[in-house]
Amino acid sequence: MLFDTHVHLNARQFFEDRDEVIARAFEENVQYMVVVGFDEETIPLAIEIAEAYESIYAAVGWHPVDAIHFDEKKHLDYLRQLSEHPKVVALGEMGLDYHWDTSPKNIQKDIFKKQISLAKDIDLPIIIHNREATADVISVLEEEQASTVGGIMHCFSGTVAEMKQCVALNFHISLAGPVTFKNAKEVKEVAREIPLDRLLIETDAPYLAPHPYRGKRNEPAYVTLVAKEIARLRGLDYEELCHITTRNALKFFGIKK
Ligand SMILES: [Zn+2]
Ligand SMILES: [Zn+2]
Repeated sequence: MLFDTHVHLNARQFFEDRDEVIARAFEENVQYMVVVGFDEETIPLAIEIAEAYESIYAAVGWHPVDAIHFDEKKHLDYLRQLSEHPKVVALGEMGLDYHWDTSPKNIQKDIFKKQISLAKDIDLPIIIHNREATADVISVLEEEQASTVGGIMHCFSGTVAEMKQCVALNFHISLAGPVTFKNAKEVKEVAREIPLDRLLIETDAPYLAPHPYRGKRNEPAYVTLVAKEIARLRGLDYEELCHITTRNALKFFGIKK
């Protein structure tokens, strides 16, 4: 059994055939999924999908790319309310994204910090989005003492040393499609070094499809390819890798089987 810890089944790319995509995931033994909503359009849909499927859960947060549209009063209350929903298992994704120049860094940091503070208040773990901002993400997590709630570094793309810093901060490390790319030396190195009890897998579908689907639409069934590559890199049985990562995710999200 596998657990895709980060999937956007609520994205437009799945509007036509979402149920078939989910059925294909179940056929591949991808039993559990967390659908991530990150703005006003995707959050209600994440909840709706989680309500429709017993083994699908939701995470809600505000994406850093869209930080300038975060209305503090309105949206913090909104996230707080939704966090009480029985299928909401984490806050996020939140974080910093220095790749797309859509929200100034200081606003991104501010909205990130406010969401960490909310997470501490309601005692939910957080899911971190980080693009080209690893050092700043780590210093915000340190400053805000995010280790008290812990969380996931989703689609981790830093160095082994940065991975170790995140682990020391009580974070899990989730790997996605890029670990399967032939030229992804650093991610493969990280994949070998993550403590087994902190290792998670995801697709981030519809984005970042693993090899051999690179560039195509990704879907949760393909998390099997991520698991196979990590198993190969670590010299573990595929089944064992699936078992370990699923057990980690169930425990992390507080899901009782
Ligand atoms: Zn992300
Ligand atoms: Zn995402």
